[in-house]
Amino acid sequence: MKQQNVPEIYGSMVFDDRVMRARLSAKVYQSLRKTIDENAKLEEDVAEAVACEMRDWAVEKGATHFTHWFQPLTGVTAEKHDSFIAPSPDGGVIMDFSGKELIKGEPDASSFPSGGLRATFEARGYTAWDPTSYAFIKDHTLCIPTAFCSYSGDALDKKTPLLRSMQALNRQAKRILKLFGTEVKYVRTSVGPEQEYFLIDKEMFEKRPDLVYTGRTLFGAMPPKGQELDDHYFGVIKPRVTAFMEDLNEELWKLGILAKTEHNEVAPAQHELAPIFSTTNVATDNNQLAMEIMQKVARKHNMVCLLHEKPFAGVNGSGKHNNWSMATDNGTNLLSPGETPYENAQFLLFLCAVIQAVDDYQDLLRLSVATAGNDHRLGANEAPPAIISVFLGDELSAILDAIKNDTPYEGKEKEVLKLGVHVLPRFSKDTTDRNRTSPFAFTGNKFEFRSLGSSNSIACCNIMLNAAVAESLKQFADKLEGAADFEGTMHELIKETIKKHERILFNGNGYAEEWVKEATEVRGLLNLKTTADAMPHLLDKKNMDMLMVHKVFTETELQSRCEIMLENYCKTVNIEGHTMVDMVRKNYLPSIEGYLCRLAKTISLMKSVSDNVKCNYEVSTMERLSELTDYILERVRDLEKALEDLGGFDDIIKTSEAIRDDVLPKMEHLRKHVDEAEMLMPESCWPFPSYGKLLFSVY
Ligand code: ADP
Ligand code: MG
Repeated sequence: MKQQNVPEIYGSMVFDDRVMRARLSAKVYQSLRKTIDENAKLEEDVAEAVACEMRDWAVEKGATHFTHWFQPLTGVTAEKHDSFIAPSPDGGVIMDFSGKELIKGEPDASSFPSGGLRATFEARGYTAWDPTSYAFIKDHTLCIPTAFCSYSGDALDKKTPLLRSMQALNRQAKRILKLFGTEVKYVRTSVGPEQEYFLIDKEMFEKRPDLVYTGRTLFGAMPPKGQELDDHYFGVIKPRVTAFMEDLNEELWKLGILAKTEHNEVAPAQHELAPIFSTTNVATDNNQLAMEIMQKVARKHNMVCLLHEKPFAGVNGSGKHNNWSMATDNGTNLLSPGETPYENAQFLLFLCAVIQAVDDYQDLLRLSVATAGNDHRLGANEAPPAIISVFLGDELSAILDAIKNDTPYEGKEKEVLKLGVHVLPRFSKDTTDRNRTSPFAFTGNKFEFRSLGSSNSIACCNIMLNAAVAESLKQFADKLEGAADFEGTMHELIKETIKKHERILFNGNGYAEEWVKEATEVRGLLNLKTTADAMPHLLDKKNMDMLMVHKVFTETELQSRCEIMLENYCKTVNIEGHTMVDMVRKNYLPSIEGYLCRLAKTISLMKSVSDNVKCNYEVSTMERLSELTDYILERVRDLEKALEDLGGFDDIIKTSEAIRDDVLPKMEHLRKHVDEAEMLMPESCWPFPSYGKLLFSVY
């Protein structure tokens, strides 16, 4: 694509502000803007006018259908297409789309997970237009971003609680800003998610049932070369991958997704895509869309894009970095240190709100990224540990220390910092932010939550983050609003907050053994290693109370979500286990047996020809392989039994614990023996492509 075309195609498939301003009447536009910016009620005639223009615009762009696009709890997006066609009295058709159809849809949604929220006989939930995220065209279909609820009003999706959490933060942040004499229309959180993924050859992919069924390899011996040379990281991008990235960028730009940087990642065949940040719910929609388009474009290039957190053992898995900040409608970043004493105090207050939030709700942050796939990464020295902590960098830490202890900061003035009076010492954007071991790092004007898995929807962690920070801000505002001496009270509040929550601050190496000991034994931080450990904390009283006070979730929604997430974990591992059994019984054992037969025949044939042959290679290989087939059989039976036993639990928590304690270790065990057999077998007799073929097949 020619460079000069970019501005032209950018957003060409989005019903964005430019289109709205150009096509809607001034009155309709103003009214819609008020709904978007200030959550004002949407009038019926406005919806009608918007629907009409949206349809005309979409039809001009070649769309024939429309869909309410939503994000059920399956983690992927859902859509149900309706055509615009309506019969006209003359026997023909017209392209029709009403305000009602724009605002509300009724997908038959009985098969989406609801965790008991909606009995299947009440099949129909409804979808409701989210005007804060722009409609777009994909595959000749006008896609309208929507929230998905049950008729009783319970959220059945990820968007609804995300929007509620943004509202909660907005409410509380505005209270704080008011104390500083600033009135704003709104405060919104912004997110830039960096997305990692693997690209492998489609032909290789299709030969691996484990990749096809589960998205990750369940077997595979390490190839002679992995990622030890670090030659892939930021390396020259291969032509096939370049062609893919060019195509992908074009598709994303058309949809108004600001794909900005792309580079090779640490593992062979691993890459990263980073967009420019946007408002959280838009960023969430865009990330879902980006994941979908990446897979589609990869197929076009005869490759498969793997979004699984750990597609290959022994090389790095894929994560997603959630860069997060808060900003006002006039663009002021509330996590950016300011120029004046007042701005600085405000910055510190917001900073402390985040620190307190992360400490108080470590468990919610941890569980918001908990999935079967991500469990393989967290704590495995390739991603942040499962222990949540905050990295501030040396300079900012020293400033907080000085405030906490009323001691002079090592800056030029050597003065004791007084908030609201002094300007903060300038600190450079900390270079040590390259400390990739921290789960939650301050990077100059935003926080980067690095624990997300590559396939996670970013909605979940942002719901928790927004809600937890809203809670800190609420507590701060409650204290400060009535204070006679605002500056003095604020100074004390910040000091106290640092003292109370400094245990969550950690600039050191998160991979070190000593950190686990210190974090858990000395500091009392949580170390929730697996989904089974983390998820039940969603129903801890303190967490439920907080999420309910801020109206992010209702009690039933929380219960259903906990259930759905655990169910998802169990089902995922269950499928993996059955896939392993299948591959072993249908392919691995028969292949090894075939080769054993060949060896045995060779040995007896050779010995029949000459008495002098020892057949050392043949005999030792045969003996070891035969031994391994016995082990494999034993292990596969163990696994089958463990999987069968899962049916005996009627409680999802117990099932998830059995998955963690019984099924997963048995899968690991089985794999070990099969991988050893792979090393002894000729490649031509092995039933599936090797790691080497999978990882190094794209040029
Ligand atoms: P790195 O790889 O060093 O983490 P990148 O520049 O690749 O940094 O990615 C940083 C991400 O953070 C980008 O997506 C960027 O748009 C985003 N970002 C920058 N400023 C903000 C902000 N104020 N709020 C949210 N995200 C931001
Ligand atoms: Mg990053």
